[in-house]
Amino acid sequence: MDIKKLEEAGRLILEAIGEDPLREGLVETPGRFASMMAEQMAYTEKSNEDIAKEFDKTFVSPGSDVVIVKDISLFSHCEHHLALMYHMTASIGYIPKGRVIGLSKVARIAEAVSKRLQIQERIGSDIRDIMERITGAEDIIVYIEGEHSCMTARGIKKPGSVTQTLSSSGRYRTDPVLRQEFLQTIGL
Ligand SMILES: [Zn+2]
Repeated sequence: MDIKKLEEAGRLILEAIGEDPLREGLVETPGRFASMMAEQMAYTEKSNEDIAKEFDKTFVSPGSDVVIVKDISLFSHCEHHLALMYHMTASIGYIPKGRVIGLSKVARIAEAVSKRLQIQERIGSDIRDIMERITGAEDIIVYIEGEHSCMTARGIKKPGSVTQTLSSSGRYRTDPVLRQEFLQTIGL
């Protein structure tokens, strides 16, 4: 992450919109902008494989048929506008194949993939991919809903419009009953 370049970019944005980067109140803004971006994009240079390694802690399944982690709150940035995706929640279900992952790790994985430029669909498929790498499970489903400021605060301006995406594999893709059961459990 090039902090110096981020600071420079922050200063350039201020100049480009006609602001005076030296006025009181803005003097430290490029620096703040740089550290905020660095934090929010912290996983840009990490692959799904890297993230899977980082959170690779599983234990023997106590025998549950289905594991569902509901309503993990997230935010990310869309790659088309660098705009905030907010009020975002992810719910993840999978059928363990002998091993399960700690529930807090599931949330950490979702946060990690959100800390790079994203589209909502890919947040779902990234989570699914990493869950599969760690647990070996083949039946995984990820539901995400969120608001995108590039839709709600500019252009067509549709405040409150929510984008819903579903990413599934294995039996969650082929078995409508299983799929319906998951959607019902998360309240859809
Ligand atoms: Zn966008």
